[in-house]
Amino acid sequence: MIRVEELSFKYAGAKEYSLRDISFRVKKGEFLGVLGASGSGKSTLCLTFNGIIPHSIRGDFEGNVFVKGYNTREASVAELSKIVGLVLQNPDSQLFNMTVEEEVAFALENLGLDVEEIKRRIHWALKITGLEGLEKEFPPNLSGGQKQRLVIASVLAVKPEVLVLDEPTSQLDPIGREQVLSLITLLNKEQGITIVLVEHNTEYLFDFADRIIVLDRGEVVMEGKPREVFEEADYLRKLGIKIPVSVKIGAELKRKGLLQKAALSDEELIEALNALLKS
Ligand code: ADP
Ligand code: MG
Repeated sequence: MIRVEELSFKYAGAKEYSLRDISFRVKKGEFLGVLGASGSGKSTLCLTFNGIIPHSIRGDFEGNVFVKGYNTREASVAELSKIVGLVLQNPDSQLFNMTVEEEVAFALENLGLDVEEIKRRIHWALKITGLEGLEKEFPPNLSGGQKQRLVIASVLAVKPEVLVLDEPTSQLDPIGREQVLSLITLLNKEQGITIVLVEHNTEYLFDFADRIIVLDRGEVVMEGKPREVFEEADYLRKLGIKIPVSVKIGAELKRKGLLQKAALSDEELIEALNALLKS
């Protein structure tokens, strides 16, 4: 679905490269988590998937990004946006219509769809994001979680095959965060949408990502299944990445010789602690 080949990028006027020789792939239906400290290049990478980099934001662009076989150097942002939907950190910066319904319709206006299809898609997108019944609501009146789900609804209505979400929950309260993360899981598991998610909530990535890449100063420094990545708890901490509490406790108990495996999900940790208490 996405193929990144030896990608490097330096913003126009910047001294240093923000992305350095990055290569990886994302399979159809896969859920890829992206981790990295602030400034490691996560947002820059997200902007390469729908061609905003290099088409709208310029700089030195080396290597290639392919989306469903299209080279992003050659395809336009408009074409790529039909395949890759991008959701950013702050929902307020992505909402500008008078009603919830118009917000979703707006995204569909340039696709040349007939009225019935537009209605069907609005209904589908609002239903799946749990916003049914709020059609006439003024977007600024929604809660943070609802706003971000509305951004996701307007992106989904275009029927992209990939959803790229750049820290979509960082400005939400715990309830909003939970709503948005469960929606992302549902879209991946039930709708088969390929997900690329930049997210600081590592507990969530541990549970739901198929694979994780870790960026440090523009380079991919780790890539693997969540368990493989979180096994390197000390290294992640050095990079400034928060690790799941269960993994921290698991690593500590392993160090003390009480457990054999280090990286553990909540469930496994509870099981291991129970076994430990019984022994
Ligand atoms: P992250 O999302 O991981 O915090 P970014 O992709 O935003 O990282 O930034 C990566 C690097 O690129 C940082 O050093 C940042 O200062 C730089 N950078 C980001 N945006 C721009 C820009 N528009 N112009 C110049 N440098 C930028
Ligand atoms: Mg960022």
